[in-house]
Order: sequence, then C-alpha cells, then structure tokens
Amino acid sequence: MNAPVLEARSVTKSYGTTRALAAVGLTVERGESVAIMGASGSGKTTLLHVLAGIVRPDSGSVSFQPSSGEPVDVTGLAEGPRSRLRRERFGFVFQQGLLIPELTAVENVALAAMINGVARADAVARAASWMAALALSGLEERRIGELSGGQAQRVAIARAQVTGAELVFADEPTGALDSRTSREVMDALLWSTTGQGRTLLVVTHDPDVASRCSRIVAVRDGRIDMTEISA
Ligand code: ADP
Ligand code: MG
Repeated sequence: MNAPVLEARSVTKSYGTTRALAAVGLTVERGESVAIMGASGSGKTTLLHVLAGIVRPDSGSVSFQPSSGEPVDVTGLAEGPRSRLRRERFGFVFQQGLLIPELTAVENVALAAMINGVARADAVARAASWMAALALSGLEERRIGELSGGQAQRVAIARAQVTGAELVFADEPTGALDSRTSREVMDALLWSTTGQGRTLLVVTHDPDVASRCSRIVAVRDGRIDMTEISA
C-alpha cells in the first residue's frame, strides 16, 4: 500500500477556552478526494488549516509525504519552511476566491508560480494552459470583478494548480454559488486534482459536493464522527 499523503495524529487546538479540535486523527491516501462535513463551528476550517500547516496545533502532529523524497513533519517546521511548503506543494481554494482585483485573471494565476521563482513568461504560459484546461480561454485579460462567481472560482482553482500542488485544500469552494455553477466548479476541482493523481480535501456544507468525493469525514464538536460514510 502507498504511504498516506497526509497523516494527522491526535491533533488538538484551542482558542482560549474554545476547544476547536480535540485529538483528531486522519489519514489521507494519495489520489483521494475527502469531503469534510459538519455544522458551523464544528472545527472544519481549523482542521483544514492544521492539516495544511496554516495553523500550528497545540499538540499532536501532521506529516506530509511528498510524491518523492522524505516525509515532512509539518507541525515541527518553523514558520518560514512551513510557508514555503504551502506555497510549493499545496494549493488553496477558498469560498471567496481571494483573488487580487487589480490583476487580470491570468496574472492572478501566474503570480502563484512567480512567487515560487518561475520566470514571468513561463508562469504566464503555464497559467494560460491551466485556464484553458478549466474552460477559461478568452478570459485571461479580464479583471476579477469582470468574471462570474463560477469563473472566478475556476481562476482560483487554476491558481491552486499552477504550482504543481500535490494536495489541494478547499474551504467551502462552492459556498457562494448556485447549484449548477457549484457542479461546474466541482467538475473543475475534481478533474484538476484527483483526475491528475493529486489529492483533494474539501470542506463543504453541500451534500451534492460531498457525494462526489471518494470519502466523507464528518466533524462534530472538534472530533471526527466515527460513523464515517463512504460515498
Ligand atoms: P467551522 O469551519 O466548522 O465552522 P471553525 O474551525 O472555524 O469551524 O471553528 C471551530 C471553533 O473554533 C468555533 O467555535 C470558532 O468560533 C472557534 N475559532 C475558530 N477560529 C478562531 C480564532 N481564530 N479565534 C478564536 N476562536 C476561533
Ligand atoms: Mg469554516
């Protein structure tokens, strides 16, 4: 069996007296799509952020196994290397794309690669090719405010992929979209991740989104509800 791509062990995280995560363990296999579901405030975003190395847990560990090379102890990394790991190996898609309104669509995508040291022309070429793959051809020069919600989310997906991310973390990526657009965005997200042998973790409230993933993990009061459902 393959080594898991991501493994969290007994992760806890409190904010003051609020226990956001209580001893959570989770193993993610390469190529899986995992939907994280649960009520508002149950700890989904905190879990995603801990798994992605955005938030350091109070205790427990997260380890990431890159497709080549040694496993990485995400929790043990200092801020600098952790942010580099996120930039180079992970991709992120949020509910609101968090795209830069002053830049064009293709510049938003290319920027993620340029931050990792890819030369501008190469980054723009890669960005344009991801945009084409996500049915965004012809929209390269639009500003973000000139895109529909679904188009903007696909730009955000292209941005998450342009660095060659092995793992993509999405937090309610369809939360602001109608059901048809939501389906199109999920098509794009699944095709660009698991469709390419990559791994997707997606927080969602939407049962239609969750049912398209290979596995559903339910979070309740900062714990994984062990009555785990397999889609
Ligand atoms: P979900 O994404 O499932 O809605 P969160 O992970 O955002 O839940 O939050 C889990 C709990 O932790 C909630 O009670 C929330 O209010 C609290 N929390 C999350 N982030 C912070 C923070 N930065 N500061 C204080 N409390 C927080
Ligand atoms: Mg949340």
